Formats: sequence, structure tokens, C-alpha cells
Amino acid sequence: MYVIFFGPPGVGKGTQAAIVAERTGWAHISTGDMLRAHVREGTDLGRKAKAFMDQGLLVPDDLVIDMFMARLAEIGDRGFVLDGFPRTLAQARALDAALARGGGAIDLAVNITAPDSVLVERMMGRAAESGRADDTPEAIRVRLEVQKPAAELLDHYRHAGKLKDIDGCPAVAQVTEAILEALGVGVRPQGPR
Ligand code: AMP
Repeated sequence: MYVIFFGPPGVGKGTQAAIVAERTGWAHISTGDMLRAHVREGTDLGRKAKAFMDQGLLVPDDLVIDMFMARLAEIGDRGFVLDGFPRTLAQARALDAALARGGGAIDLAVNITAPDSVLVERMMGRAAESGRADDTPEAIRVRLEVQKPAAELLDHYRHAGKLKDIDGCPAVAQVTEAILEALGVGVRPQGPR
């Protein structure tokens, strides 16, 4: 299956995307992780992206779309879970077109939601743990304002009958179960505990 995870920063979409990828065997594509790797390695793309990321702003479409398409081409026929892409309608259209060329389409867009107060608390906790350069209080405020999934982006998938809202407030395992149920997929059996 081809699945997109949407949600505001701090809602746990990265955590859930990683768990769902692990449980299903699908590829997990996180454009945030990819961009951070470019910044760490000091690539040309990393240098261009850093200024936007440090301010909590979106990296320009052309840079992100090129990077994403290269990764998509690598994963072959496996299903995927997208985490952090698409973030704009231009990115969604580029994704639709790329999948259509292979006769495919997005199966489901999972929209994980939570109130702002919960999101700020979670992001401040993560900032203390990880020391991520873009987890300063000011950048968090900007990201919450700027990086909620755009209504037009959600509408793009809602109108196609592919959007499913999931409450991101419960414990991680409960949210995972709700997502897997929405996907309606058989999952790999878990090993003995
Ligand atoms: P994330 O880990 O998904 O929160 O992404 C971290 C940062 O990378 C974001 O705040 C953006 O600056 C940038 N970024 C990640 N994915 C995208 C995307 N699809 N389009 C534009 N910018 C992105």
C-alpha cells in the first residue's frame, strides 16, 4: 500500500510512521530525516535547506521534490509510508503524477490530530532530549503556525475519499492500533515478548 501520514509537528507522525513501516515491511520515507542527513553531511542541498529548517520554514518545493523522487525511485515495488511529504499541493501533484506513471495511486492519507497545547508540550520535551537545532521555543511557535497540514492539502485527499482522521492524543500503542485498523492490513506477527 501507498500511505501518507499527515499531522502537525509534535503529533507523533514520525514515531507512528516508523512503527507502521516496521510492522508492515513497507519503506519509511521521512523527508525531514533525509534533509537533516544532507545538513549533517554538508551537501549542496543541505546548505540550501538549512536556513529554512532552522527558522522552521518549509524548504522550497523544487529542492524537496527532486530529493524525494530520487528516493522513491529506489524503493521499487514495496509499499511505503510517507512522513513529512507531501507538505504542499505542488508536492502532492508531483507525487500523484509519479505514481500514476507506474499505474499506482495513494491508497490512504492518515491525518493524525491533537490540540496545540499537547503539541507544544511534546515538542518542548523532545527539544530537551534531542537538542535539535530547530526545536527552540521560537522555531516551535513558527512551525506550529506554518506547518499544520495545509487545508488545501488535506482537501486534495479528502475529495478523493482517501483521508482518514486519527486522534493522536492516546498512548503510542493505541494510536498505532487505530492506524493499522484504518489501513485494514495484516501485519507481521510479533515475536515472543
Ligand atoms: P520534519 O522532521 O518532517 O518535521 O521536517 C523538519 C524540517 O524539514 C521541516 O521543518 C522543514 O523545514 C523541512 N521539511 C521536511 N519535509 C519537507 C517537505 N516535504 N517540504 C518542505 N520542507 C520540508
